[in-house]
Amino acid sequence: MLRFASLASGSGGNCLVADCDGTRILVDCGLSLTEAERRLARLGLQGADISAILVTHEHGDHGGGVFDFAAAHGVAVYLTYGTRAALEAEGKVLEGVKVCLVNGKEPVAIGALEARPYTVPHDAREPVQYILSDGNARLGVLTDIGCSTPHVEQMLSGLDALVLECNYDLDLLWAGPYPKWLKSRIAGPFGHLDNRQSEGLLGRLERSKLKHVLGAHLSQHNNKPALARAALARALGCSDDWIGIASQDEGSDWRSL
Ligand SMILES: [Zn+2]
Ligand SMILES: [Zn+2]
Repeated sequence: MLRFASLASGSGGNCLVADCDGTRILVDCGLSLTEAERRLARLGLQGADISAILVTHEHGDHGGGVFDFAAAHGVAVYLTYGTRAALEAEGKVLEGVKVCLVNGKEPVAIGALEARPYTVPHDAREPVQYILSDGNARLGVLTDIGCSTPHVEQMLSGLDALVLECNYDLDLLWAGPYPKWLKSRIAGPFGHLDNRQSEGLLGRLERSKLKHVLGAHLSQHNNKPALARAALARALGCSDDWIGIASQDEGSDWRSL
């Protein structure tokens, strides 16, 4: 059985754990080592339980804590060539950590799970997002993408669970406190998805098997959980409270597939 939970989601740090028959994989670690360990303990896990970390891209809220965690617990790190180069340039790649390069085309087997990276438009060196599968159920993770693409929608069709970015509400972003250049970056084609873009993306997927949908990477300044829930619920034609939210402070509870 495949299950997953968010440890944290948002620009203050992202980390998700997937678990299948003792294979436990983190997707990103934008948390300090102690914070990641504290949040794993909330979910009944320890650092030593983790088999691998998949990194989506080098931004600090995703890659910032990856190598500290990997070094502390002897965990292998999976990332693209470009993400490794960007983290190296920041001095974040630590000696002695096993690194496995991935690309946007080929899946990798890690214990009981298969991780399939796929490419996304985002302002990082070589960003990917991941689909995790136990050979039966498939979990898709998609955050940090400026606009949807046919490739992304093809990859995410037919999933059993989806963790989907709902970064901002467009009106709140433009009325909010950020400087204009940052608003333009966030709303641009290599920035983040707003609630309406996520609603549209979800609505175009083949989604007959979806058991769980979690809104993720919500901006604390420019979004509200109720707005994200309502947008994703419109796409599915379900009630708002069926939609989960992976939050910055709490993450989410376990969801089983
Ligand atoms: Zn991010
Ligand atoms: Zn990013």
